[in-house]
Amino acid sequence: MHCKVTSIQILPGVFMLTDRMGMHMTLLVGTKKALLIDTGYGFDDLLSAVRCITPLPLTVMLTHGHHDHACGACQFPKVLIHRDEEGVFDYYANNWRSRVWQQAKAKGLDLSDWTEEQFVQTACRNAVFTEETEMDLGGMTAQLLHCPGHTKGSLCVYVKERELLLPGDDMNPTTWIFFPECEGLGTLISSLEKLEKLPFRQVLCPHHDKLLPRSEFEAFLSGLSRENVLSTSAPAFHLWEGKKVYSCHPQPHFTLCYDWDKLPENWK
Ligand SMILES: [Zn+2]
Repeated sequence: MHCKVTSIQILPGVFMLTDRMGMHMTLLVGTKKALLIDTGYGFDDLLSAVRCITPLPLTVMLTHGHHDHACGACQFPKVLIHRDEEGVFDYYANNWRSRVWQQAKAKGLDLSDWTEEQFVQTACRNAVFTEETEMDLGGMTAQLLHCPGHTKGSLCVYVKERELLLPGDDMNPTTWIFFPECEGLGTLISSLEKLEKLPFRQVLCPHHDKLLPRSEFEAFLSGLSRENVLSTSAPAFHLWEGKKVYSCHPQPHFTLCYDWDKLPENWK
């Protein structure tokens, strides 16, 4: 079978899939079931990509509803999202398709397998709500954790047997929490503190192509102190017109872009 989506096995039964836009998704393959986490921009045949790797029954879930994670959702009969993510998913997976098309065009990507109309009019109305839960994939457990921050309904995944954390967009080399649907920095910090209690040893971020050691997560979190955030902040108002967006460096190699108005009150 020919697969357009690239896949790399980064840990036993853990595959990083990359779509033509360069967006990463994660496929967990146990002995009984497989779990696809996120669906990318929606240009590529993800089911075939999964079937190149495993014939096992497949569940699909989204860490959150942004277009770069959710536009591929309509390729599947259903996708699991957190209840608090319904509005974000509806908006981005459907209303943002025209922008995604323009973005792909601007990158000069080959879109000859689509027409613009086909892509823009594809509808994603297949969300099924999930709460925090544990999925037994057979020799591999995926623990879904509600971690509001990047969005209100963000889900992170902890894979116990691989000591692996998938933090969704709550943590990336560049983390964005300035969209209207983002929670404030205080909420993000609470979620990261909840994750820190888990005994993971490695982290796989959706916008980074390599595993990071736990120490990077700890450095990111400890760098989110009031002093560190405020002392490294610079205006980044161009990121969202009409909002006081600032960019800061929790650590020299991490960037966080946040909404000043949503900082904890006692920080200002
Ligand atoms: Zn996002």
